[in-house]
Amino acid sequence: MQAGRGREDRNSMQYSLFFIQRFKGKVLFNVPMSEHTSFRIGGPADVMAFPQDDGDLKDLVAFAESKGFQFHVLGAGTNLLVRDGGVRGIVVNMCEGFKDTSWLDEGKAVVGAGVRLPELVNQARDRGLSGLEFAVNIPGTVGGAVMMNAGAYGGEMADVVEGIEVIGRKGQKGFIPKSELNFSYRKAVLPKGAIVTRAHMRFRKGDPEGIRGRMAEFRERRKASSAIPYPNAGSIFKNPEGRIAGKLIEEAGLKGERSGGAMVSEAHANYIVNAGGAKAKDVLALMALVRDKVFSSLGIVLEPEIKVIGED
Ligand SMILES: Cc1cc2nc3c(=O)[nH]c(=O)nc-3n(C[C@H](O)[C@H](O)[C@H](O)COP(=O)(O)OP(=O)(O)OC[C@H]3O[C@@H](n4cnc5c(N)ncnc54)[C@H](O)[C@@H]3O)c2cc1C
Repeated sequence: MQAGRGREDRNSMQYSLFFIQRFKGKVLFNVPMSEHTSFRIGGPADVMAFPQDDGDLKDLVAFAESKGFQFHVLGAGTNLLVRDGGVRGIVVNMCEGFKDTSWLDEGKAVVGAGVRLPELVNQARDRGLSGLEFAVNIPGTVGGAVMMNAGAYGGEMADVVEGIEVIGRKGQKGFIPKSELNFSYRKAVLPKGAIVTRAHMRFRKGDPEGIRGRMAEFRERRKASSAIPYPNAGSIFKNPEGRIAGKLIEEAGLKGERSGGAMVSEAHANYIVNAGGAKAKDVLALMALVRDKVFSSLGIVLEPEIKVIGED
């Protein structure tokens, strides 16, 4: 993969992409990433392609690899900050294809990477299957959630995932069992460039009332942060071992702190919000300020949970 390319190369890429005749999905050019991230921030992607199925995705990554174009995988963009200069190369948007879910016997399911977690939680509830209630408020896709090992209230994706189907960077299909994903806090380890197409999950048979009760309880616990009126990307920093990042940020007196249009939320100190016209550079400056102040006042280093991509 090569670094950023000039206008001439972008034109040649446009030309080439148009001529992947087999590609069934949409291909858009110069797409504002602010329209594809929950933060509503980010400069343009040169190209955004929406593969519809394995065949499309296989062709797309093989094409990108053969031409030396960078590609970035996008789920729902709910854990992502895109820099203001945008993204060179191809953004592979997984939200239009890969929305299939097959429910198998014994509480097993094969779930497309583009399925949203809250939708899957509801489907599992309707089948009396338990294990994913923790994700009722997590707005991402299954693919993004596997990559991030998303979790809440003591549960995480690693509890339900048995393995994943992937397309590798040369377009080859594969299956990676859970034992090789090395799940840890907000992290899974995949071969470089691998794209999750489906997750194989196993649920437990549960009592429907209990499942509904847990979902309601988790919604209630999330009331304050889900009422935040500004675009955001959820928690900005990981919780350091044994500590809660939001509490540390609050203790450091940073609630309401601003940089340009970015602000540390008054409702939940580990959320940075786009309070109006925020740029990625504002969010990054505020993140640096929060890290510095928490370190200088409490001696604790905060690590970002969100992923940052693109150019300044
Ligand atoms: C209001 C709010 C609340 C949130 N609450 C929580 C929470 O409680 N717990 C929690 O863990 N997270 C939470 N999040 C963060 C986020 O929703 C999760 O991390 C989610 O799993 C990200 O999924 P996504 O589809 O949006 O991924 P994206 O943000 O699109 O991408 C995240 C990363 O995954 C990669 N990726 C995405 N799809 C694929 C794929 N198919 N194959 C390979 N790589 C892929 C991307 O390249 C990127 O590196 C919250 C976010 C918001 C906005």
